[in-house]
Amino acid sequence: MSSPKESAKPAKAVNPADAPKPSNFLRHIIESDLENGTYAGRQWGGSPGNGPHHAAGIPDPAKIRTRFPPEPNGYLHIGHAKSIWLNFSLAEQYAGVCHLRFDDTNPEKEEQEYVDSIRETVAWLGYDTLLADQPGAPGAEQPHEYFASNYFDFMYQAAEYLTEAGHAYVDEQTPEQMRATRGDFGTPGTNSPFRDRSPDENLRLLREMRDGKHPDGAMVLRAKIDMASPNINMRDPTIYRIRRATHHNTGDKWCIYPMYTFAHPIEDALEQITHSICTLEFEDQRPFYDWVLERLCEGGLLNTPPPRQYEFGRLNVGHVITSKRKLRQLVEENRVSGWDDPRMPTLAGLRRRGYTPEALKLFAERSGVTKSGNAWTDYAALDAALRETLDPVAARAMAVLDPVKLVIENWAEVFGSTEHLEACEAPAHPHHPEMGQRKFTLGHEIWIERTDYEETPPKGFFRLFPGNKVRLKYGYVIECSGATKDAAGNIQNVLARLIPDTKSGTSGADSVKVKGVITWVGASDGRPAEVRLYDRLFTEEQPDAGGRDFLTVLNPSSLSVVNAIVEPSLAQAAPEGHYQFERHGFFVADRHDHGPDRLVFNRITGLKDSWGK
Ligand code: ATP
Ligand code: MG
Repeated sequence: MSSPKESAKPAKAVNPADAPKPSNFLRHIIESDLENGTYAGRQWGGSPGNGPHHAAGIPDPAKIRTRFPPEPNGYLHIGHAKSIWLNFSLAEQYAGVCHLRFDDTNPEKEEQEYVDSIRETVAWLGYDTLLADQPGAPGAEQPHEYFASNYFDFMYQAAEYLTEAGHAYVDEQTPEQMRATRGDFGTPGTNSPFRDRSPDENLRLLREMRDGKHPDGAMVLRAKIDMASPNINMRDPTIYRIRRATHHNTGDKWCIYPMYTFAHPIEDALEQITHSICTLEFEDQRPFYDWVLERLCEGGLLNTPPPRQYEFGRLNVGHVITSKRKLRQLVEENRVSGWDDPRMPTLAGLRRRGYTPEALKLFAERSGVTKSGNAWTDYAALDAALRETLDPVAARAMAVLDPVKLVIENWAEVFGSTEHLEACEAPAHPHHPEMGQRKFTLGHEIWIERTDYEETPPKGFFRLFPGNKVRLKYGYVIECSGATKDAAGNIQNVLARLIPDTKSGTSGADSVKVKGVITWVGASDGRPAEVRLYDRLFTEEQPDAGGRDFLTVLNPSSLSVVNAIVEPSLAQAAPEGHYQFERHGFFVADRHDHGPDRLVFNRITGLKDSWGK
């Protein structure tokens, strides 16, 4: 067996995303588990009851198994991209498997819409192929997609077992009483008066809870651990509650539901997860995670060794919020156009904005995997990752975002008629001749950027001003002769004269030296396009820092829409096609609104970082 380290190839420096992976503490743990055969002797197929549909047949117990376990109560965001990348790429790197598990134990907030969008996003990131075992292996026909709610029967069995074994009891204190007797960091909790009921009585009450004999909130099942534990999470945590709510998967079968902290380790164990990777806020939950699994292994309900939980620092990105509740508020209050508004930090929004899976993965990887919390990553790092991964592959195009007309006064003199069109061409990509040529025409009238003309130029301005010569990129050298203005003094047309025999790619191209080159689009074949220019959604780096209302720091000019003119090759752009508009940055054809009859492009980011103040 060759270790992943040995198989790492020397970098060809083609694409930064292909560079060798930096190591991190999780890779060290996995490598040592593989070396020591930690999971090699693992015998599965215990008694998971209605457990996962194919947990029993998995043939290679030495494999590592990770999982990404979103709760389907919202859209995935940029923070999740890190967790997805981490879990799936570890599985990929060590020839393991990663499960997509919908953690749907809470009946109230979950919706099919979220399940669908999560599935779509994971596939978009390119990880759907990892949801299957190697072709031919047992289970390969099944995607490794799971629902926590499929284990409700087993979870309930586990609760009965803990109750019978004296590890759990039914508590009839009110929520207020439970809060009051829990103690705090400095004070131990106190035992519930119901703590010493007999296992038989507890079991009877638990079954009554299940059978709907008691109203919501009347009682809960609690683990019996230690009310004086220094870790508050170990002070007899609740493991089942009564809640009459229709569940998206199990309907009205249950009126009691397991708590997340109880359900999660069971889900991991039933799916034979080896490394259960989560963010640091779950560190204090780890003792309870281990407690649940130890008790159930003791009772023979689960086999050993159980999964182990490892925590890493969550990703925080400047100028971004990731709280699902706050993101929902932006959507519900119509502050943005929806979950996939290109300004949203949701993965659906980032996708629509034009960020690519490659850029997101490179960004996630570079943000590092550490045991320390609360590191902030600059949004500029995402843009840098986008530029680096898109620059080598994106087709080039010319676009004029703030168009003003330029009239070539001597066109008919040079070419015999104002109707004449000069064919021009340019490579789709400067380093990839195989991507072909773009074709467009230069004529008597063209569109240029308004800012490319100055009547009285500032020092160092090399573009159009009376008397100055510039090159029209891929075209001719022209000499500016001024501009016409309307009654209010606004520029109407910029005027210029063409210098014959200076066409790019011809022998005369170098006969006239110029300091400025401008981009342009022909008036006859340019196509109108709606171009959406985005800025950050919040003006502050930490929008909700110190309890500030994040809505007060919404950037009022985070979107501006301009009527642009683009070169004809862009009429063929497919939705989600990526381009570099020369001089302007990286753009994507809008996933939903763009089509052959209505060109719509979103600016992803500029060519250089312009975010720093
Ligand atoms: P909630 O606010 O509803 O708890 P959540 O962001 O924790 O939301 P989950 O659906 O529970 O969302 O998250 C799924 C997984 O994504 C978890 O394993 C969680 O640790 C991970 N995750 C969430 N946010 C981040 C983040 N900012 N960085 C890295 N991982 C994250
Ligand atoms: Mg969560």
